[in-house]
Amino acid sequence: VTVPGTSAAELARQHAAGTTPPGKTVEQAFARAAEVDAGPSGLNAILWHDREAALGAATEIVELARQGNRPGPLAGVPVVVKDNIATLTMPTTCGSRILEGYVSPFESTVVTRLRTAGAIIIGKTNMDEFAMGSSTENSAYGPTRNPLDPTRVPGGSSGGSAACVAAGIVRVALGSETGGSVRQPAAFCGIVGVKPTYGRVSRYGLVAFASSLDQVGVFGRTVEDAAIGLGAIAGRDRYDSTSADAAVDDYVATASDSLRGVVIGRPREYFPDSLDARIRERCDAALEKLGELGATVRDVSLPHTDLAIPTYYIIAPAEASSNLARFDGVRYGMRAKATALREMYADTRSHGFGREVTRRILLGTYVLSAGYYDAYYKKAQEVRALIANDFRNVFDRGVDVLFTPTAPTPAFPIGAKADPYEMYLSDIFTATANLAGIPALSLPIGRVDGLPVGGQVMGRHFAEAALFRVAFAIERALGEAAHR
Ligand code: GLN
Repeated sequence: VTVPGTSAAELARQHAAGTTPPGKTVEQAFARAAEVDAGPSGLNAILWHDREAALGAATEIVELARQGNRPGPLAGVPVVVKDNIATLTMPTTCGSRILEGYVSPFESTVVTRLRTAGAIIIGKTNMDEFAMGSSTENSAYGPTRNPLDPTRVPGGSSGGSAACVAAGIVRVALGSETGGSVRQPAAFCGIVGVKPTYGRVSRYGLVAFASSLDQVGVFGRTVEDAAIGLGAIAGRDRYDSTSADAAVDDYVATASDSLRGVVIGRPREYFPDSLDARIRERCDAALEKLGELGATVRDVSLPHTDLAIPTYYIIAPAEASSNLARFDGVRYGMRAKATALREMYADTRSHGFGREVTRRILLGTYVLSAGYYDAYYKKAQEVRALIANDFRNVFDRGVDVLFTPTAPTPAFPIGAKADPYEMYLSDIFTATANLAGIPALSLPIGRVDGLPVGGQVMGRHFAEAALFRVAFAIERALGEAAHR
């Protein structure tokens, strides 16, 4: 894999200065995509693209600069977005047959904000259908391959976006998170992925999976790329009443050589005896570096961690069963040919949804049904509060951030996890942050058998700046060792 050495910030500077035409950068991104993504042995990371619109946007950036407008932080920088984020000139299918050919009549706030920052949206990326999965194998449009080893998965559900960054097509990409779908593929592909605090980023135009857990996330080749991407999309949006009015920090400015005064918690539940010793060793090496930079590392406990997966797999399907009720053949996308209305609903949904989505709808409908609601859904909500409380307790006792592995294993081979429950366990270290609503970031901390390992930094609500500060420090301290 050859990765272009020019950061998003440097690209934007060159475009603003007129030393590189944005059109050339866009052409390079498409050329790289043609080289690695297309064809039978390609990555299959990009589902839809719009070359004309991208080149038109590049011309517009040049024109705006000529008129004396201040260039945005992503001026002329090519970006790809996951296919569950609404765009105007390309389809938004959520990797599903049921939305084949569907083009949204409105644009998501995150895409509008990226464009305002100068970014050029070049394509929509492959994903597990409706973001349900951890491998990008559950796409109606075929699996995405991992650019570092094409026999392996890129992780999921935002695997297409992660693969585009890792393969050097773009420096910044958007994904979405419900239980780890940005952090886990970032870890599997050796790049940076950040899930913001619930409410930090608008969900307007993000197709809902589990609304109380969903959040748009950002991939970057480096911590700085991700910091610029998040800065561009963060902040209150009047179209999403769950978006928060919290001040957005300058995440790039958090980079510092010292971590003096920072307390880092190492939660013992994220380092079980069963953890791959080489992953533990990479994490401990990163923690040691943090100590050398002046941080205090403290052992802590988050006792309800082992309940996260069962809790998540009640709450997420419950919300999904409700959110996905709208795909009925009447309002969006595909419609089965049937004369009777009930038959049309049933045929559309039976043929339009894949196996995993169907499984989740059935599971979610079951846990919400009369007689089971109290036993499952209500109980899960109570356990969710306990998990959130675990985090509150450690943060209240002076711990600034937590450091853990992102995933229990490196990227696994395509087809290796046929049992859904085994697949669900991929999110064992990430789903907790979604349940608690806290921000979390994954970054590369080394390799095992040539495959990337991700380290996870988690923090208090709206403390993304603290995550970036620590992530910048780890990235700088590890240097090339993060990719060896
Ligand atoms: N792998 C988890 C799931 O299948 C999380 C997916 C996500 O974060 N969107 O639900």
